[in-house]
Amino acid sequence: EHLEDSQKEGDLAARAPVVTIMGHVDHGKTSLLDHIRRTRVAAGEAGGITQHIGAYHVETGHGMITFLDTPGHAAFTQMRARGASCTDIVILVVAADDGMMPQTAEAIDHARAAGVPIIVAVNKIDKEDADPERVKSDLSQKEVISEEWGGDTQFVEVSALTGQGIDALLDAILLQAELLELKSVAEGAAQGMVIESRVDKGRGVVASLLVQNGILNQGDMVLAGEYYGRVRAMLDENGKQVDAAGPSIPVEILGLAGAPDAGEEFQVVPDERKAREVAEFRQKKLRHNRLTRQQAAKLENVFENMGAGECAYVNIVLKTDVRGSLEALQTALTDLSTDEVKVNIVSSGVGGINESDVNLALTSSAVVIGFNVRADNSARKLCQEEDIELRYYSVIYDIIEDVKNAMSGLLAPELREEIMGTAEVRDVFRSSKFGAVAGCKVIEGTLYRNKPIRVLRDDVVIYQGELESLRRFKDDVQEVNAGIECGIAVKSYNDVKEGDKIEVFSVKKVARSI
Ligand code: GDP
Repeated sequence: EHLEDSQKEGDLAARAPVVTIMGHVDHGKTSLLDHIRRTRVAAGEAGGITQHIGAYHVETGHGMITFLDTPGHAAFTQMRARGASCTDIVILVVAADDGMMPQTAEAIDHARAAGVPIIVAVNKIDKEDADPERVKSDLSQKEVISEEWGGDTQFVEVSALTGQGIDALLDAILLQAELLELKSVAEGAAQGMVIESRVDKGRGVVASLLVQNGILNQGDMVLAGEYYGRVRAMLDENGKQVDAAGPSIPVEILGLAGAPDAGEEFQVVPDERKAREVAEFRQKKLRHNRLTRQQAAKLENVFENMGAGECAYVNIVLKTDVRGSLEALQTALTDLSTDEVKVNIVSSGVGGINESDVNLALTSSAVVIGFNVRADNSARKLCQEEDIELRYYSVIYDIIEDVKNAMSGLLAPELREEIMGTAEVRDVFRSSKFGAVAGCKVIEGTLYRNKPIRVLRDDVVIYQGELESLRRFKDDVQEVNAGIECGIAVKSYNDVKEGDKIEVFSVKKVARSI
């Protein structure tokens, strides 16, 4: 995939910050987003109706700011889980009459795990029982310290109801953005992120994109995840047609052949042939990764090396029944750290395991540990879908033992799978000696006689085993190269059909890159 490199070349120019709003339920995330949108988004021609396309941008006296308007952790962490980084700054909304609540703490963990700076919006300041000092002291427990108290986090008092303090909040965002020195390629083919997408009955696939580099033009050939298509129409957050969109501008486009996931990267490619080629390659790779992942899950995926720094990490999201067990476990687990492997408790808390815990585990390659607590339905479902390791315990000693084992496992070599060759079945013969013999043509790589194989039908694995024979004409051979025809008999498998594919793979042990 050389596409990305060529696209990121070019002169860098300053770009507008992209902001996500997080915080506890009812603390005013939606109200704040709506207030800013209502009062600051330039109205479209003929008073166009604002519509939600997943993001909007505002022009202030001092610069532009883009807000992702899917508040909450889910959107943020789902995007991060796909490796996307599309947020420069997190606005943490805390109601001044309520202080720090569980989701406030979670939001801090999420922002921190992503390495994104926080600005605290102390909301509902209009209320009689508002107590901004308490918010400062609450948050200092999580090491979010206000500038007034000698820390480095901006706290801004606002009211989403009256609009008080919102100008100051926008200024704070721009100040933070300046420190970050955000840059992008201002010209050339566009690249960016899918914010959301859906299939609309009348309009086909509707995708909201955030341009991160270059200029997206109407008529461009866009490749987004595994899908592609020409931009048939492009709309801004006022539902107004636009011809071009530059860095940090969100737009809604029509024309993709399928709906890519939020957090997928998109890019403009020169022509349809290139788009199709890469899309097909990605579909194949996706399938390959899925297989590898399932097969190797037990061995390599449970506790993953984050690759950051010099040592390996065992990352843990820890939930327990009571504060006493939480503190005991935190200390005991952290104490297991050695010079080579560190135990890193990404987040911890008292109570059941929820979706937010699992999303955090997903983004930081952590295992979820529940001590005398259970995961709710949505958390369990997400664990299954995403192959996240979820473990329940009722004995502290067992946790310690398992984590110790995982730590030594990290130092063991890793298994990696490689597909060495693929053949397409062109015809099937019956042989008295072998049963079914597939007349094949090798379409990619090399087939080897002594390696494990899989039979694929419509790109789905239907059998895994080994070869009984590999022949060219009447001769037994050890290998067959691409472009060459051969006869294959699969051991103990006679249901191979014309159109199936047979792939040869190997599993290698490679040293972990710690
Ligand atoms: P969210 O769950 O964080 O998105 O919170 P909402 O934006 O839905 O707000 C929850 C409630 O708080 C609503 O009834 C809002 O009207 C109210 N609210 C939000 N911001 C303010 C504010 O600044 N002042 C007052 N008095 N009420 C607010």
